Amino acid sequence: EKELTRLNIELERLAKEDSLTGLANRRCFMEQFESEFRRAARYGSKLAMMILDLDHFKKINDTHGHQAGDRVLIGFAKEISGHIRSSDMAGRYGGEEFCVFLPEADISQAEGVAEKLRTAVAELRFDGENPFSITCSIGVTVMHPDDADIAAVIRRADEALYEAKNSGRNRVGFRS
Ligand code: GH3
Ligand code: MG
Ligand code: MG
Repeated sequence: EKELTRLNIELERLAKEDSLTGLANRRCFMEQFESEFRRAARYGSKLAMMILDLDHFKKINDTHGHQAGDRVLIGFAKEISGHIRSSDMAGRYGGEEFCVFLPEADISQAEGVAEKLRTAVAELRFDGENPFSITCSIGVTVMHPDDADIAAVIRRADEALYEAKNSGRNRVGFRS
């Protein structure tokens, strides 16, 4: 029975976690974001979110190999975790794309976090046969009172990310 309990706890963890980075997986992140969104709507409180995407990640895989690519994803996830508060939440949205929501943060606070994170990521060094560094682009936004659902917030963060990519990458785009 003890063994069964242990297995159940382990299964629950595996269902919520991205196995490579240890961050919340997409489904778990969306569930938590959804509940935070409902809470913020009910109390009229602030809620910021950002989407982070590694720049030219395909080229990193092609140049340094898939294993190095995986090490980059782990390093990127660690850097994200290290820059957010315990009340914030990060998740792996898919591939080389990550999300964070920040309860009680306004656009300038979220932008500050994103900018620090962007700088820290650009300073990371990956050792090996051919040492290299990476950059990321980040789209930041905040929840609006008339946002119908989290999809509306994600869409805005995505637009901000798209702008960051289009204006040269390694930058933070924002939509207040
Ligand atoms: P951009 O700057 O426009 O974002 O370009 P990009 O190359 O980062 O974007 P693109 O979407 O073209 O490529 C994403 C790459 O991420 C392609 C895919 O092979 C790689 N990828 C996705 N998941 C993983 C993973 O778990 N491990 C590794 N090593 N690579 C992954
Ligand atoms: Mg990318
Ligand atoms: Mg991408």
